[in-house]
Amino acid sequence: MRSKLRIAATCVFVTGFIPYAFFQSSNAATSQPQAETVTDPAKILVDRLDLERYKAAIKGLTQFGDRREGTDRNRNAVNWIEAQLKSYGCTNFERLKYNYQPPTPVTSAAQPNNAGGPGTPTPATATAVGGGRPRGLRVRTGINSDPNAQPDLKLRELNSQPSAPGPREEIYCTKVGATHPDEMYIVSAHMDGKGWGEAANDDGSGTALVMELARVLSGRDVQTERSIRLIFWNNEETGLNGSAAYVEQRKDLQGKEIPPGSGHYPEPKWLGMIQHDMMLFDHGMPREDGIVSKEQRPEADINIEFQVNSKFAAQSQALAWMLEQADEKYATDYPASVGSHMTNTDSSPFMNDVAAISVRENERGTEIGNGWDPQWHQPTDVYATYNEKDFRLGWNAAQTTLAATAKLAGATITRTTPSAR
Ligand SMILES: [Zn+2]
Repeated sequence: MRSKLRIAATCVFVTGFIPYAFFQSSNAATSQPQAETVTDPAKILVDRLDLERYKAAIKGLTQFGDRREGTDRNRNAVNWIEAQLKSYGCTNFERLKYNYQPPTPVTSAAQPNNAGGPGTPTPATATAVGGGRPRGLRVRTGINSDPNAQPDLKLRELNSQPSAPGPREEIYCTKVGATHPDEMYIVSAHMDGKGWGEAANDDGSGTALVMELARVLSGRDVQTERSIRLIFWNNEETGLNGSAAYVEQRKDLQGKEIPPGSGHYPEPKWLGMIQHDMMLFDHGMPREDGIVSKEQRPEADINIEFQVNSKFAAQSQALAWMLEQADEKYATDYPASVGSHMTNTDSSPFMNDVAAISVRENERGTEIGNGWDPQWHQPTDVYATYNEKDFRLGWNAAQTTLAATAKLAGATITRTTPSAR
């Protein structure tokens, strides 16, 4: 039932990309069996990730309620993220500016929170958004737009300012590569949310993950050969408008040295894009009564998806397996699986220009779309809903992406490399 079986059918041979052996330790065959473990920069960096800091960052984001785009609480959250990045030592941050005008709304009744509806069998012919085949029981999902569905009066008040069309900003911070500043990997999450909760999981959990990576990568003794850009998208919930604006504004600037001879590359060439969205909740499918278990399922895993119907499917698939291998070697608790139906996330606008993948608690189309996350866009997406195991799942995804990115970008730790003496 897991995605690995499906992948076998769509497996493509990839040339010019890093093979699985990338993560295989070569120490078995060498005369210095300890050296690799001791000086493995990915391991050192992963050890610097802190579960409590990860949780604190999620909690910090929830002080701005659902952070809906086009509101003060959203703008305050952007400023707060910037202040955190500054405190980590990530100094060269910038803001992408764009204008957002919502499309004319289609009049429809507010969708109710369907909690309590029975789980019904998914028809055998069903196709999920993104192209996958959903299985088993499902419940209807929806977006809460009813303020009164939020029982916490303070939170209801915090979320009450409506979104206004107009100028938008989203922040990014770049770790500039020491030897290849003209090339980069993008690691990202969206900081906006909706649904009258705290957007703790969607997507405080991904935003906090990228913040933790920014903190670790900003360590004074950390160097990377290639650049890594950490981006906090806005306007994801309105239809990927923030990431789409970025692609539109910056795609053609890739790899250009501006001004010539300056050694400054405002938009390093994109080598890969890794998006994080909803990292915490893997409790399995709805049961016949429509209820999803309060407990994490024993088989909980991290889902890494690429889009098989994209121009860069082969490269994206290779990148996905790289993360899976990084998980195998560096993540402390949970395995990862790879799926081929990435959809509805900020990596989508990139997928025809560069290897692009999404990292999540579940598959977006077949599982979340089938009701596996009852907090999704609901007032219940608040910090207090999640338990230690849930946070640990998100933290394992941080370990996975950090290890993979460290390898891909060529990270070194100055103080432990012989050349630093
Ligand atoms: Zn999201």
